[in-house]
Amino acid sequence: MDAVSADIRSWTGNRIIEGQIKKYTDKGRDFIPDNEILRKLKDNRDPDPGRIRDILQKSLSIETLLPDETAALLNVTDGGLWQEIEAAAARVKNKVYDNRIVTFAPLYLGNLCVNNCLYCGFRRGNTEAERKVLGPDEVKREIEALAGRIGHKRLIIVYGEHPETDVDYMVSTIKTIYSVKAATRNGFGQIRRVNVNAAPLSVEGLKRLHEAGIGTYQVFQETYHRDTYHAVHPAGTIKSDYQWRLYCMHRAFEAGVDDVGIGVLFGLYDWKFEVMGLLYHSRELEKRFGVGPHTISFPRMEPAHNVPFTQDPGFKVSDADFRKLITVIRLAVPYTGMILTARESAGIRRETIPLGITQIDASSRIGIGAYSDSDESQQGERQQFFLGDTRSLEEVIGELAGMGYITSFCTAGYRCGRTGKKIMDLLRSGDEGKFCKLNAILTFREWLDDFAGDETRKAGEELIAEELEQVKQRMPEQYPHLIKNYERIKNGERDIYF
Ligand code: SAM
Ligand code: SF4
Repeated sequence: MDAVSADIRSWTGNRIIEGQIKKYTDKGRDFIPDNEILRKLKDNRDPDPGRIRDILQKSLSIETLLPDETAALLNVTDGGLWQEIEAAAARVKNKVYDNRIVTFAPLYLGNLCVNNCLYCGFRRGNTEAERKVLGPDEVKREIEALAGRIGHKRLIIVYGEHPETDVDYMVSTIKTIYSVKAATRNGFGQIRRVNVNAAPLSVEGLKRLHEAGIGTYQVFQETYHRDTYHAVHPAGTIKSDYQWRLYCMHRAFEAGVDDVGIGVLFGLYDWKFEVMGLLYHSRELEKRFGVGPHTISFPRMEPAHNVPFTQDPGFKVSDADFRKLITVIRLAVPYTGMILTARESAGIRRETIPLGITQIDASSRIGIGAYSDSDESQQGERQQFFLGDTRSLEEVIGELAGMGYITSFCTAGYRCGRTGKKIMDLLRSGDEGKFCKLNAILTFREWLDDFAGDETRKAGEELIAEELEQVKQRMPEQYPHLIKNYERIKNGERDIYF
């Protein structure tokens, strides 16, 4: 064994802290009761339409559903009833989030990884992957492209699990990202919220991310089904520990990070079981910490270079079932943010956004160093999988405006302390929407002035005119403050928020 691999082995061996799992389990038992989930899915077959309509009313009062209620929704087979269910999901989304869609970009910082997840292009065993970890100057160049050329304000930064990209590296890259001021046509642009998608960390590691000022900490369980989990995460790797991953959000709360994002990689196991897993996870967080997940993600597995497993995942989710799972998640956890990524094609995104999506990415590139690298032919071996929607942010914003959605670049929530329970309570009561609506208008105006071409600008301005009118009607007391700040933005001031 060479010196480097000995170091990596010792680092890997010290990663999992058993005490930080045990303190949360019930004598080793966790909150995913596999058999109970299977039983509930069976017991709630052929649900009565009257019962389904009662469940929809409960979602509309922004209450988290019970496992039996969620299982009943998942088991509906009647096409007409599904139309009612989808309409209710759209109403829940509008009630909590109105017509806003938040946009972000993924930024991959390093693809070294000690794990060997069967489905991932970064897995250790993929000897054809070109490995790279960005240095500070390369990170700066990526931010200059993202914040200066495209106009993003919010990122999800992504790391493999490796000693070279451990917490020290994470903290230093987060600091670099926040420090960059990138020239735009009216001044400069900046990344204002950095969300993190990384391996499960210890409480100590998470405290450091919290101090560095992260927004949401996102970790997907991949699959809640234990046997499948062990089959796709080879024994002896860190990731093979189901409970270390399952309890990482508990550790995040303990460390002070109270905006957490959970998710499933759909295609690994039965989609209905996985939706139930997401519900049990959300309910557990609500019970323990008084606040559920800030976001839920539901990526479908995509093909990746030299990753044969992705060619034939056993539980590939059809487009029709994908629609259903989005709808049921929206209704089961009505307050949560829902993220639909550019893994999906433009057509699927267009169709499913109205079912309850709150956040999408655009202009995304997932090769390491890809935003500042003009040579696209090099990206295949450096990216984790292949993207479905490669349209620019401007194209996506233009389309959203045509569909009646305002793109929000708001990052005010965590900067004003509206996180965790505070934001959940505001969302449930409908009050958060007030801040969000005003901030959406201000940040959209900023983006139009700094980045939009003539056509998008025109479509955007028409939408803003409608939004201003709505504020005037619905929130007359806020309207004068909004107009004052709106004029300041038009005159070139930036980063003004409620
Ligand atoms: N290494 C960390 C981890 O595994 O949690 C974070 C980064 S990992 C690259 C981010 C997510 O990408 C994983 O949680 C997984 O759900 C997703 N992913 C991996 N392979 C994928 C594929 N072939 N298609 C779509 N998503 C994939
Ligand atoms: Fe590594 Fe994450 Fe990919 Fe697994 S999913 S191989 S942990 S980067």
